[in-house]
Amino acid sequence: MNKSINPPQNPSSAIANGFIKSEIMILIVDDLPDNLRVLSAALSGQGFQIRCAKSGAIALMAVQTTSPDLILLDIKMPDMDGYEVCRRLKASTTACDIPVIFLSALDDVFDKVKAFNMGGADYITKPFQVEEVLIRVKHQLSLKFAEIEIRQLEQRVKQRTDELEKINAELQIEIAERQFIQESLKVSEERLESILGAIEDVVWSMDETLSKTLYLNAAVERIYGYPMLDFFADPHLWLKVIHPEDRGRLKNITQTLLSTGSFNEEYQILRLDQEVRWVCNQGHCVYDRDGKLLRIDGIVRDITAQKKAQQQLVHDALHDSLTNLPNRPLFMERVRQAINHSKRNPKYLFAVMFIDLDRFKMINDSLGHIVGDQFLQSIAKLLASCLRGGDTVARLGGDEFTILVNDMKEPNEAMMIAERILNKFLHPIEIGDQSIFGSVSIGIVINNREYETSDNLLRDADIAMYRAKSLGKGRYTIFDKEMYEQNLKTIQLDNDLRYALERQEFELYYQPIVHLSSEKLAGFEALIRWHHPERGLVPPIEFIPIAEETGAIIAIGDWVLNQACQQISIWQSQFLEAKSLKMSINLTCQQIREKNLVEKLDRVLAATGIDGSTIRLEITESSMMDQGEETIAKLEELRARNIQLSIDDFGQGYSSLSYLHRFPVNTLKIDRTFVELMSSGGQNLEIIRTIILLAHTLNMSVVAEGVETHEQMSTLRQLGCEYAQGYFFSRPIIAADAEQLIKSQTT
Ligand code: C2E
Ligand code: MG
Ligand code: MG
Repeated sequence: MNKSINPPQNPSSAIANGFIKSEIMILIVDDLPDNLRVLSAALSGQGFQIRCAKSGAIALMAVQTTSPDLILLDIKMPDMDGYEVCRRLKASTTACDIPVIFLSALDDVFDKVKAFNMGGADYITKPFQVEEVLIRVKHQLSLKFAEIEIRQLEQRVKQRTDELEKINAELQIEIAERQFIQESLKVSEERLESILGAIEDVVWSMDETLSKTLYLNAAVERIYGYPMLDFFADPHLWLKVIHPEDRGRLKNITQTLLSTGSFNEEYQILRLDQEVRWVCNQGHCVYDRDGKLLRIDGIVRDITAQKKAQQQLVHDALHDSLTNLPNRPLFMERVRQAINHSKRNPKYLFAVMFIDLDRFKMINDSLGHIVGDQFLQSIAKLLASCLRGGDTVARLGGDEFTILVNDMKEPNEAMMIAERILNKFLHPIEIGDQSIFGSVSIGIVINNREYETSDNLLRDADIAMYRAKSLGKGRYTIFDKEMYEQNLKTIQLDNDLRYALERQEFELYYQPIVHLSSEKLAGFEALIRWHHPERGLVPPIEFIPIAEETGAIIAIGDWVLNQACQQISIWQSQFLEAKSLKMSINLTCQQIREKNLVEKLDRVLAATGIDGSTIRLEITESSMMDQGEETIAKLEELRARNIQLSIDDFGQGYSSLSYLHRFPVNTLKIDRTFVELMSSGGQNLEIIRTIILLAHTLNMSVVAEGVETHEQMSTLRQLGCEYAQGYFFSRPIIAADAEQLIKSQTT
């Protein structure tokens, strides 16, 4: 809009009330001063501001400085006529909107068409009537202001339209956004529903009073086995399906939830099909901003498999995998409970039995581990069949079983069970097509109030079991005070044995071995003696088994080996007759198992300078059988050094005779018991005859042990036995006496 036009504040009212004429400026352009005066007087009389210009050029300049609201323009002017002035005004961007009213004299040649073409708004012919001028001026001004108003209105309309369009556009965007959000919500809702429908866990939501189910996913049917609708129909179904075992524990679950805001419980449920399952239910309260409870949401997970695995783990940890019997930890725990029970109820009586299979190793070695395992499984069943309800049978490991005889009326009950077990072993146990005769040794301890720990009870049952074994196996013994003291003595001996070597309490005795045909000295057996500082002479039978068990035998055995070899070496160097003497040295199972046994012997032979053939190692049958092929290989190595090997106490063990040829043995030593019983004749004599025959067939010589009488000696000689050893010839004697004996042989 042209800035030079100053429309009244409210043009329409200005027109209605007459213009606020002081604000309206009219430019009068005329070369005649009279015209200017008349017009200006008339118009200023109306209150308009008036400016006058005497020529077109001045008018154009005036317009540039202050833009008038209306121009009265004379046509006929000397320098530039009105048409030209009008044309220029209309060509100017700043003045083109100013309405121009041409003034023309009647006698002028006035071209109205040209005037309008030039942009004139109206014309007045001279001489003018003031009223006409005023009417035309006011009319033009009205038109102009109406036009301005229209433009302003248009502008406002446009502004409004723009605003509306903008609002509309914003609305469109908002609608689109909403649609998008709704769309996304729908998608995510569908996705959520699909996820919830697919997950294994139950997702649930209940109202704040827990009396209405709000949401459930499909998993509920899988886990609970009830149709989903049942839960909506009966909101208490949740509680009803809890297994009776757990119902009591969970009866306050609702209160807990409402007071703490959450719960997390594992329990069993009973499905519609009566199957029992374990679930873990986690719920939590959902509140609004003001802390008002809205609803309760939760998740139920089926943890049956996990529980079963856990139970299996616990079961495995407490049971023996081979027999599925309770293992040591579980057994000990039950004994501990029994002890505690007996403390509270002095009349409560129970017993612990320790059961060891006799000769299980032999079964295992000869029939193989698979049969051995099946045998153990059968034993487990057999033992279980001998018990009363409430008793526990356990496998401690290997061939050791234990029984807790619970709540007895009298100690006799334990013995009755032991007898029942022993009776079962009167018949063979069938494994596949094998019939195996087994036997067990049973130790029984009856609880008394002195027992504080399950270890002590088991220890004493073990002691009693060992006693049963040493009494000949296949029997039971009841632990008593005497056994306890015996055991104490053993423990004491074991302790003292640790210091015996360094305190030089050992001594070797030598028992002569005689050549039966010539009755000449053939050698000695080195037999250890322990001079105990308090107990005097302790026989080897009392301490060798202990040393064997504790491992002390290795150091003691080394000492014996060195001592015996040194002694024979000395005698050989001193006496010519001693050159052919053999020194027999006893080796236990542990010593034979020793990895470096062969190197040890090499070192001793080298140190003492004696020949391998001078020593004869005495090994019992069971030691020889102990490690099968491994032992045979070791013995072969010894034989390669000319070291003599002898089976000690032959006939006592259980080695099969067919096995004998596999061992590289030079000599059999017939066990003393056969020699002892020989005089009663009959079978025993035949046994000895057979052994001698067998030995000779296998190119072995025979030594008879424990020869005490002349009769025994001559019988053995008749049977072809080469050597003998026994009190009849000499008891084991000290080195000095043995030396005298060698000397006497020379003379
Ligand atoms: P063994 O090797 O069978 O030794 C023979 C045992 O019979 C010796 O008992 C000996 O004194 C005894 N004896 C010999 N002649 C007669 C007799 O006519 N009548 C009777 N009743 N007994 C006789 P000892 O010395 O008490 O040794 C017992 C066992 O201790 C030995 O049996 C042997 O197995 C073991 N032993 C002894 N010394 C050693 C040793 O230095 N090392 C090892 N590893 N074991 C040894
Ligand atoms: Mg011996
Ligand atoms: Mg012997």
